[in-house]
Amino acid sequence: MERRQVVVIGAGPSGAIAAALLKRQGHDVLIIERQLFPRFSIGESLLSHCLDFVEEAGMFDAVEAAGFQVKNGAAFAWGERYTHFDFGDTFSNGKPTTFQVQRATFDKLLADQAELQGVEIRYQEEITAAHFDGPQPQLRARREDGSEYTIEADFVLDASGYGRVLPRLLDLEAPSNFPIRQAVFTHIEDRIDDKHFDREKILVSIHPTHRDIWFWLIPFSDGRCSLGVVASAEHFQDKPEDLEACLRAFIDETPSLSGLLQNAVWDTPARTINGYSANVKTLHGPGFALLGNAAEFLDPVFSSGVTIAMRSASMAASLLHRQLQGETVDWHTEFSVPLKRGVDTFRAYVEGWYEGTFQDVIFHSDSPPEIRRMISAILAGYAWDERNPFVSEAKRRLRVISEVCASAAQ
Ligand code: FAD
Repeated sequence: MERRQVVVIGAGPSGAIAAALLKRQGHDVLIIERQLFPRFSIGESLLSHCLDFVEEAGMFDAVEAAGFQVKNGAAFAWGERYTHFDFGDTFSNGKPTTFQVQRATFDKLLADQAELQGVEIRYQEEITAAHFDGPQPQLRARREDGSEYTIEADFVLDASGYGRVLPRLLDLEAPSNFPIRQAVFTHIEDRIDDKHFDREKILVSIHPTHRDIWFWLIPFSDGRCSLGVVASAEHFQDKPEDLEACLRAFIDETPSLSGLLQNAVWDTPARTINGYSANVKTLHGPGFALLGNAAEFLDPVFSSGVTIAMRSASMAASLLHRQLQGETVDWHTEFSVPLKRGVDTFRAYVEGWYEGTFQDVIFHSDSPPEIRRMISAILAGYAWDERNPFVSEAKRRLRVISEVCASAAQ
């Protein structure tokens, strides 16, 4: 039986940040990671706010030096309509730029940084069982050669992302209230020669006739980009089974995007992920807390996943530090409730996106600059900034403004 202070399951962004923050406070931290890094992961467009946590974990200089594509905002296209938001001009005055990253490189860089700070990472080992009913949490780990061992810890942080280790093992899964959607995506050499195309922004394009179908185009610094489509099941029925052909068929229906990509070289097999929205009954329990995607995942449309993952890591690390020093902490009021506030802000905008209200607002030609700055702050990730009326009253504000835009358009 191995004895450790904190065990983190998974070395993705939430695991690496949480582990480094705890190590920096002097705690013993072990990460168990199922895969060998670098490994592919989807989720390449970062928001400004996530760099606040990269900085807190002492990793900002390494990320900045890595040569990732700088991102200064988000652009949206729908037929002839185009609008963009600039992270340098937001209500929350956060970081003006962030990055568009190949996640294989980015996640390895964060994990290496955590290791450099003294975190132990065991790759190619998988957590297969967990027991929280004894005096100390116990985890069962399986090595690559099939041998197994038990680790006892004071506390377990589950940062296992789509692996959802503790939600599965402790029966914490809860249904998401979003319908099942599917994403099909790839990396291409984009060869975009349109001089108006802005490589420093994610481009989100909406299908011309189905407003709930959308595409992401995330340029990287090497002339390549991540390209994907998101749609619900019924839209896939008349599409080819082959994933690349399927993605191309959606793009062919969307002239603004097919025009941009007319010279692209498709050199990487496409992938798909289905039914990715997920939720849990609780974010914590005696001896554990859930971080990032191991807890709740909403939807990719606002690129909020890594930011929520890192925010949860930062909050959990600071609470756990206090707890390990002997303080009593209330994980419900100090972790779940405040974390969910920002997640619920994103939820309101994701719902607005698929209802069409968010689209009505952003494409409206006369939206007041102050309102655009408030929306821009959320797009930059500052969804916990309660001073922003579009955070504190997200649903109501979005509904009222979209009604104003709709009546002005008539
Ligand atoms: P992960 O990055 O998934 O890391 C979890 C790690 O845990 C993995 O390395 C895994 O191998 C390991 N693990 C799993 N099970 C075990 C086990 N049993 N034992 C040990 N280790 C284990 N987010 C953005 O911010 N921007 C985007 O543009 C964006 N686009 C997206 C597009 C799509 C289609 C989807 C579905 C999601 C997108 N996301 C995006 C979300 C993003 O992918 C996730 O939110 C983010 O990766 C979560 O990070 P994490 O640290 O929680 O988990």
